[in-house]
This record gives sequence, structure tokens and C-alpha cells, in this order.
Amino acid sequence: MSALPPSPITPTVDFERDGVQHGFLRLPYSRDDSAWGSVMIPICVVRNGKGQTALLTGGNHGDEYEGPLALYELARTLDPKDVTGTVIIVPAMNYPAFRAGSRTSPIDKGNMNRSFPGRPDGSVTEKIADYFQRELLPRADIVFDFHSGGKTLDFVPFCAAHTLLDKEQEEKAFAAVEAFAAPFSMRMTEIDTVGMYDTAAEQMGKVFVTTELGGGGTARAETVRIARRGILNVLRHAGIVGGAVEKSQTQWLDMPSGDCFAFAEDEGMIETMIDLGEKVEEGQVVARIHSTGHTGTAPQEIKARMSGLLAARHFPGLVKAGDCAAVLAVEVD
Ligand SMILES: [Zn+2]
Repeated sequence: MSALPPSPITPTVDFERDGVQHGFLRLPYSRDDSAWGSVMIPICVVRNGKGQTALLTGGNHGDEYEGPLALYELARTLDPKDVTGTVIIVPAMNYPAFRAGSRTSPIDKGNMNRSFPGRPDGSVTEKIADYFQRELLPRADIVFDFHSGGKTLDFVPFCAAHTLLDKEQEEKAFAAVEAFAAPFSMRMTEIDTVGMYDTAAEQMGKVFVTTELGGGGTARAETVRIARRGILNVLRHAGIVGGAVEKSQTQWLDMPSGDCFAFAEDEGMIETMIDLGEKVEEGQVVARIHSTGHTGTAPQEIKARMSGLLAARHFPGLVKAGDCAAVLAVEVD
């Protein structure tokens, strides 16, 4: 038995009630401007009888917009008549970060995707993570978490799942990725899996699917269209929403090892030498980092450690040592 105290979060929606409910996850947060105040995290539940449950999230990182744009709209438009089972929508999971337009929470600097399993007696971010860990994830059959590159990265638009030890679970996740039908579909490798929502969901045996759909701290028309079509496709694929999956061409990609990632070793001004989606050969210079303090210094060259295509790049024009400069991926059939 867990000795953990109950979550301080109170939902204003009833997860067992049929129909559409728009409400909040209310988290008490006492502070200077609101002595008995709360953080009010928007949540929508669309339920129509028994069936599978999908848990859909955006704003895990607060500066990524395709997910929230797709999910606020889905919450506004999804008709329970078209649903079998339950769709739980939290469009801005780390709501304080989302309100601030920043990756992490302005309250406690919490990175939601490094805060799992969270703590009921921890910081605001840890309390939100704990509520997902103990209350929402156990309800779900399929868990879909939208990401994009945020202010510091830019990606080719892809939907992704992880390679897992449980091959049946992995196959279900990759089938959902295929149904999402983004221009690219990724077998994803993470730099750092500890504390991730992904890992928490996968360890519970859930079908976990995610995306990286652009970045730069904004959203583009194309990537928002991909997000909206894709999430409906996943719900149709799961049999939760009626109708056929709207098929579209997707190119599968793999991140076979840590050689995918290239990091800056110096600060300076970055010049990406190829554009997103372009092919690259091992040894090719993918980016140059120009020293800006004085003239006459040769740029640092960042070379590809494998052949593939450019799947992500650093977004702002200036980099620091240790910044992720480029991510490569390999095309697979
Ligand atoms: Zn993210």
C-alpha cells in the first residue's frame, strides 16, 4: 500500500458522467496575490457509455502550441454522440507554464516532463504530475501527449512512440502513430527518460503516443492542421470516435543511437548548413558555430556522426555550450 497522502487537486468534472463537461482541476496555491487561491487547470470530459478511455494532453511544456490549438478546439467541437467511451482532454497540462509562455513553470521552475511520478506534498508542478500519475493515467487506455520544439528547437512534423520491451504494447503504440499520419512517424529515442510522463504511462502498460510538430515557440498553419487531423485519426483508430481514419502518406524514421544528437561545444551564432528534412551524409558539416567576440576566428564545425536526414535543429540564432544543435534520424521502410 502507498503511504502517500491524497492529491490536493479537486476535479470539478465527474469522470463517470455521460455528455460533455468543461471544468477544472483545482489545485490550491496560496500566494501573495491570493491567500486562499488556486491554480485552475482547464479540463474537458466527453463521455458516452462504456468503452475505452483516451487521455489527451497539450502544454506539458508551456511554449508548444500545436497541441493546445488542437485540443481546445477538440474540446469545443467533439460531440458525445460520435464517441464510444471517454475522452479526457487537458489542453494545457502545465497550466502555469502555458500562461507564462515558457517551457517550465514560473512558480517552481518545474519541467512537467521531468517531474513524474510527482508528489502530492511537493511543488505545484509535482502536485500536477502526481495527479496524472495516480488519478488520470490509471483511467486511460490510450495516452496522447502533444509536444513541439518550443522556443529553442524546431522539428520536422512527426508523431512518435518509443521502442519498448513489451512488443505487444510497442506494436499498439506504433499502430496509433501510423494512424495519426503525420508527414513523418518516429521510433523515438530519448536523451533522458527519468521523470518523463511518457515513461510513467508506459510503465503502467498504457499505449503512449507523442508528437514533435514544429517549434520556435509558435505554431504554423500546416502543423496545426496535422495536429487536428491526427488526433481525430488516433481516436477513430482506437474506436472511440466513429468514422474511418483519414489516411495520409507518412515516412517512418528511426533514431538508432545517441549519434543522432549533436551538441554545441561553444557559444556563438549558429549557422545550420542544411534545412529540416534534408538528407545528410556521415561526416558532413550540419552546422557551424561562429564566435562573435572578435573577427578572424574559424567557426566550430558540427559534423554528422551518422547518415540520415535533419529531423530537428536549434531554433534561436545564438547558442550556448551544451545546447542541442541538431538531431538526425534515419529513414526506414
Ligand atoms: Zn515538449
